[in-house]
Parts: sequence; structure tokens; C-alpha cells
Amino acid sequence: MALIVQKYGGTSVGNTERIKNVARRVAKSRAEGDQVVVVVSAMSGVTDGLIRLAKEITALPSEREMDMLLATGEQQTIALTAIALHTQGLGAVSFTGGQAGIVTDDVHTKAKIQNINPEEVHRALDQGNVVIVAGFQGRTKAGQITTLGRGGSDLTAIALAAALKADLCQIYTDVDGVYTADPRIVPTARKLPEISYDEMLELAGSGAKVMQLRSVEFAKKFNVVFEVRSSLNENPGTIVKEEMQSMEDVVVRGVSLDKNQAKITVWGVPDRPGQAARIFKALADNSINVDMIVQNVSHAGGVRVTDISFTVDKADLPKGSKVIEALKPEVGFTECTADESISKLSIVGVGMRSHSGVAARMFEILAHEGVNIGMISTSEIKVSVVIDLKDGETAMRAVHKAFLE
Ligand code: ADP
Ligand code: ASP
Ligand code: MG
Repeated sequence: MALIVQKYGGTSVGNTERIKNVARRVAKSRAEGDQVVVVVSAMSGVTDGLIRLAKEITALPSEREMDMLLATGEQQTIALTAIALHTQGLGAVSFTGGQAGIVTDDVHTKAKIQNINPEEVHRALDQGNVVIVAGFQGRTKAGQITTLGRGGSDLTAIALAAALKADLCQIYTDVDGVYTADPRIVPTARKLPEISYDEMLELAGSGAKVMQLRSVEFAKKFNVVFEVRSSLNENPGTIVKEEMQSMEDVVVRGVSLDKNQAKITVWGVPDRPGQAARIFKALADNSINVDMIVQNVSHAGGVRVTDISFTVDKADLPKGSKVIEALKPEVGFTECTADESISKLSIVGVGMRSHSGVAARMFEILAHEGVNIGMISTSEIKVSVVIDLKDGETAMRAVHKAFLE
């Protein structure tokens, strides 16, 4: 008898027919004698709809109340999935994240899992139940409801698989697996039979939302091997696991595009030690993640000043701008501007470690397409560029064609 954790994303539980389909799949695993823990997302569109409602009231809603609101999306689907399983004649019980023993810190809207107490889940499984857990949520030690960041149901599944010492962790979604690029943007993208944690991490961190970034970090840390596959067919998916030597033969494993970034520029910052520290510490203190940073030095009327540009998630833009504006008296900059019409294009592959000239080739392809590069950053296994939002998709297809077709 194996213990399987199966996670079904928003599209896979998008309506009651889909929820019945999930129940049939779970029933099949139970019929084979396995114990099953199911993690579900909110129905597709529900979380976005709830965010829209709050934003109709204010651009900066309280983060505690946002968690209270957003956690309701997953609570609908756990109950509906349990009801669907009952109609299959199966014992099934739904748990909120807190009831499943998921304890987080108190950083509302981006809480980190601190520990999982799996006793209640084990008890319900041992009584013959399928256990259905609300993804994307937990509770603090003090009992407050928290959420784990967008796409956080992936993290719930991987963390539960680690805590329960599951034999198998399956992430069911609306594509057959992880592709060389988002198949919705690049129709010629290919499904990858396997990918290393590090490559999946870089892709997830650069906009391939097929897996949430933090869930992959967690899987790597606790060595949770998992499979990404479709809830609508029986095709084998993509196995995400530790790197193997043969993986280095491929220079570029995948291409990703992040249209969810925004650029903040702080103009005319007096060029003195400590200024960058002030700016980025204030952002960090407000739990705002900064991705790329560029600084230019110039002379303005004899005083050396610098312009500092950096990228943040679009969702963090109102808060980020507010944090920077508040620093104006202390830092003494002239102006702070925001640009939402950017995108970030990345190529990823462990093979870059042993092959040179990959970045130069990417820049050549972009030049050939007439695409201007605004910012560049690289890691050992990734090259990213910030380009205009309007160029994003054509640039992605051109880069995919050159490296992967
Ligand atoms: P779920 O609701 O199941 O969590 P998501 O919408 O979060 O599903 O993730 C699946 C989507 O990720 C796919 O529909 C696809 O458009 C997108 N995607 C982006 N990059 C990739 C990629 N490299 N491979 C597969 N899917 C990708
Ligand atoms: N419902 C949440 C979201 O839309 C979590 C998830 O789907 O994983 O981000
Ligand atoms: Mg997702």
C-alpha cells in the first residue's frame, strides 16, 4: 500500500464536472489499495475574482484580511471534492490548511511554512478516508489564517508529501508536463521527460508558472521527487528530480517569459555610501522581493548622482512605490517612477556551465528581431533580459526556435 499526494490545480477543479473527474481519478487510486491525500486549488478564476473585489474597495487592502478572503476559494473546492468522493462511495474528509497541521510564520499573503503536524491527516487516513486539504493556506501559531503566495497549492502538496513521507507526489494540471516553453505562447514547445530541480527553480523563478517557485525550493531541500502531469489524460508527465550528469549535454532546457514584473526607477540619488542599502533594506523590511538591479552614475551640476532601477512583482508595485516615496527625505533623490510595460525573458539549462557564448547568442537573436534590451542578469545556469512587454512573445518564440527547434 502506497501513500500518494495528488494536487489538482484551478482548471482541474474548474467546475463540478471537473471535480467529479478528480473524484473518479482518486477512486481509481483507492481501488488499487493506495492511501490518497488530495490537495486542491480554488476553482480557476476564483482567487483573481476575490482580489478584484478587494481592489474595487482600495488599492492597498489589509494583508490579514486578504488572507481571510482568499482562503475561502480553496475551502469551496475541498468541500465539493469531498462531496464528489462520497458519491463514489468513498470515505472522504476535507481539512483547511490549519486543520491539516500546516503552521506558518505571520507574513500575511506570503507566509512561509514553519512546520507541519501531520497527526490528524494520518489519523483520518488510517480510518480509511481520502483526506482533502485546502492548498495555498496555513495558520500561524496564534491561529491566524495565512496564505502562501500565488500558486501556493503546489507548495502545500510538496510540503505535505515531505511531512507524510509520501511514496509519490503528483501535480495534476492542465498541461501534460513541463515543456521547453509555455505551450500557450510557443506552439512548437516540447514536453520534457525530466528536469533537474535547479532548472525547474530557474524556470519557475522567471515566469514559468507551471510550478510555484517556493514549492520547487522546498522539493529540492527535502528531496521530494514529483511528477507534473495532466488531470485530463493518462500521458506520462515530467519527473522533477536531482540533477544527473547526462543532463549537462543539453545547453538550453527551457525558455520562460515573465509578464508580471514591473520596474521602479529612483532618479537622482546622491552618490554616497549606504544609499542602496537604505533603499533595499526598506523594501526587504516590507517583504518585497527585488529581482534585477541596475545602477547608472552621472554628474548633475557638479554633484555625482545615480539612477537606480530594479524590478519587483507587479503585485508589489503600489506597496514598493509607497516604501520608496517614504524614503525621499532620508535619501534625497529627485523622483521615483514606475514602468509596468516590461517583461523578462530567460533561457535556462545546466549545460550552460560547460558551454560558453550562450548569452552572446541570445543577444544576437534579439538584435536580429529588433528587440532592445533594458536590463541583463545571469546566473550559472540562466540568462535573463528585461525587454518591452510588447516584444515579449515574439522574442520568446525567436529564442526558442534558435536554441530548441
Ligand atoms: P494549475 O492551475 O494547475 O496550478 P497553472 O495555470 O498554475 O496550473 O500552471 C499551468 C500552466 O502553466 C499551463 O497551462 C501553461 O500555460 C503554463 N506554463 C508556463 N510555462 C510552462 C512550461 N514551461 N511548461 C508547461 N506549462 C507552462
Ligand atoms: N488559488 C491560489 C492562486 O490562484 C493558489 C493556487 O491556485 O495554487 O494563486
Ligand atoms: Mg499553479
